[in-house]
Amino acid sequence: MTEDVHEVYAIRYGQHARRSPENFIGGDPHDVLQPLDFFVWAIVGPAGAIIVDTGFDEAMSRRRQREIVKPVRDGLAALGVAPEVVADVIVTHLHYDHCGNHELFPQARYHLQDREMAYATGRCMCHPALRLPFEADDVVAMVRKVFTGRVAFHDGDDEIVPGVSVHLIGGHSRGLQCVRVKTRRGHVVLASDATHLYAHIDSGRVFPITYNIGDVVEGYATLKKLAASPLHVVPGHDPLVLARYPAAKPGLEGWIARLDAEPKEP
Ligand SMILES: [Zn+2]
Ligand SMILES: [Zn+2]
Repeated sequence: MTEDVHEVYAIRYGQHARRSPENFIGGDPHDVLQPLDFFVWAIVGPAGAIIVDTGFDEAMSRRRQREIVKPVRDGLAALGVAPEVVADVIVTHLHYDHCGNHELFPQARYHLQDREMAYATGRCMCHPALRLPFEADDVVAMVRKVFTGRVAFHDGDDEIVPGVSVHLIGGHSRGLQCVRVKTRRGHVVLASDATHLYAHIDSGRVFPITYNIGDVVEGYATLKKLAASPLHVVPGHDPLVLARYPAAKPGLEGWIARLDAEPKEP
């Protein structure tokens, strides 16, 4: 493996059944079942594993009525990743489904955009419509990590290690960042919630939870620019990800997909 080339995995830990009109501003004329999957991602390279987002735990799954299919810890174990030794966690944004399991990575440094912390601790959280996807306990846990020297702040685009970089997108959440990874098939972009589903980026439509619509649709162009091709953009919540990419290894079908392998054509 060359120094800056990484493997990338999508680990599905949860799901939520819903109908398509709930997934788009303005609804959806088709009104079909269009569930969301919940993922964390593992980037594996010469220096070990970098984890992207930390999911939510059982208590939060009950509170938010979202189903955990396999706990995040089990998915990491299936890949041979020991969370106790993970050194770097990238948090794409501070929504409840991306930054829970606060104690799972005791050694890790957490990479976060300045703007996301400012947003999640500032005046916007006075408004129920904007704080809906945030949990005070998640935000407080991240503030505590700041005070123990475990948060690395980024302002815009930055390199985490050679071959892995973060890019400010905003839009869905004010400081949302995506992650670009150099792989054997070219640059793959983990969009996280910069596009929940392939349908969002493909049709230019927008998920209802949004800070700034203009930045969401501009973000679609940024994702495409950062990726080797549109097929290298990986949405944050689409069940099609597990259908398009091969399992990480036999037995992990429907659970963990290998994103640096060629996907099936849509
Ligand atoms: Zn989100
Ligand atoms: Zn999300």
